[in-house]
Amino acid sequence: RRGASLSDLAEKIGVDAASLVQVLFHLGEMVTATQSVSDDTLEVLGAELEYNIEVVSPEDEDRELLESFDLEFGEDLGDEDDLAARPPVVTVMGHVDHGKTRLLDTLRKSNVAGGEAGGITQAIGAYQVQTTIDGVDRGITFIDTPGHEAFTAMRARGAKSTDIAVLVVAADDGVMPQTIEALNHAKAAGIPVVVAVNKIDKEAADPVRVRGELSEFGLIPEEYGGDTQFVDVSALTGEGLDRLLEAVVLTADAALDLRANPDMPAQGVAIEAHLDKGRGPVATVLIHRGTLRIGESIVAGSAYGRVRALINDKGENLTEAPPSMPVQVLGLTAVPGAGDNVLVVDDDRMARQIADKRGSRMRAAAQAVGSRRKTLDQLFEQ
Ligand code: GDP
Ligand code: MG
Repeated sequence: RRGASLSDLAEKIGVDAASLVQVLFHLGEMVTATQSVSDDTLEVLGAELEYNIEVVSPEDEDRELLESFDLEFGEDLGDEDDLAARPPVVTVMGHVDHGKTRLLDTLRKSNVAGGEAGGITQAIGAYQVQTTIDGVDRGITFIDTPGHEAFTAMRARGAKSTDIAVLVVAADDGVMPQTIEALNHAKAAGIPVVVAVNKIDKEAADPVRVRGELSEFGLIPEEYGGDTQFVDVSALTGEGLDRLLEAVVLTADAALDLRANPDMPAQGVAIEAHLDKGRGPVATVLIHRGTLRIGESIVAGSAYGRVRALINDKGENLTEAPPSMPVQVLGLTAVPGAGDNVLVVDDDRMARQIADKRGSRMRAAAQAVGSRRKTLDQLFEQ
């Protein structure tokens, strides 16, 4: 495991962490129990205790599991000839109270007003809006959980579900600590940023100052010769939101190659899931590639099932969901975790086998943590 500490190892093999610290001390390494140690150190320690320690990350373990079923998650988006454009997936980030929630709400509502009459959007964790650029209809998918925490948690689990970050900065407040944090997360993930300079309806708004402040952090506005789009908006009045959508699409077109084969077994990631009293487990899935269809066997983390219904952000029942479309999936036997990968597999049997293996692995890990600790003496006595 990456970043494992002596306490982690002690739990795994059922010994006292203090003893491990001692053994390492005698080997000439001074480490505390909670400090994370290198994989090499773990292996050396294992050899000393006559344990054969092989460091395997959960990601590697899962990759091997899928490989044993001739499956692979995430890498294969299709052959060059089969690729079709897909909408960008956007996460809204920024400092608290700068207007992330308001922006997401206004975008969702304004799209309903301009789109199909009477459509009311459902809170399903993500939604898609349409904008017209050069006479062409373009979709944009927004993940509805603002803040970089959800983003970081998903990324830590290897779920690459965001293409572009919209960084919201209140023009009356300027760049704040979480603005920089959000920016650093986007940088670390290699995700392009579009800046929404918000609250321009306010008297104290100073959008020029925001441009200057962010320039110091490497986000240079296009109008100053840089390559970052800054758009002045008001999440309150809706001013500038069309230009914001346009900036997102233009940034996607300039910086990213967003294509996937829609004609493959679908794969995606669960961005939200819960247990619904009437409908059972409900997961919102963002499709990465392929098209998810009713009746297909799927595995989602350690849950599995057959797709019974697909529901979009307007509450409409669909028969299929293409790449970048957020869709509620009904028919799972359990509630998957946010960030869990979702795969269409050959049949129910395969889905169940993969889910069961993942489930027992998770239980084993939980048990290891709870297991009784033995002293090193007891260990040597065995
Ligand atoms: P979050 O913490 O980033 O999600 O911020 P919110 O969306 O909750 O907004 C914080 C406060 O700012 C709320 O009272 C919003 O109504 C207000 N607000 C958000 N956007 C604007 C805007 O464009 N103009 C004005 N005047 N107020 C805004
Ligand atoms: Mg909020």
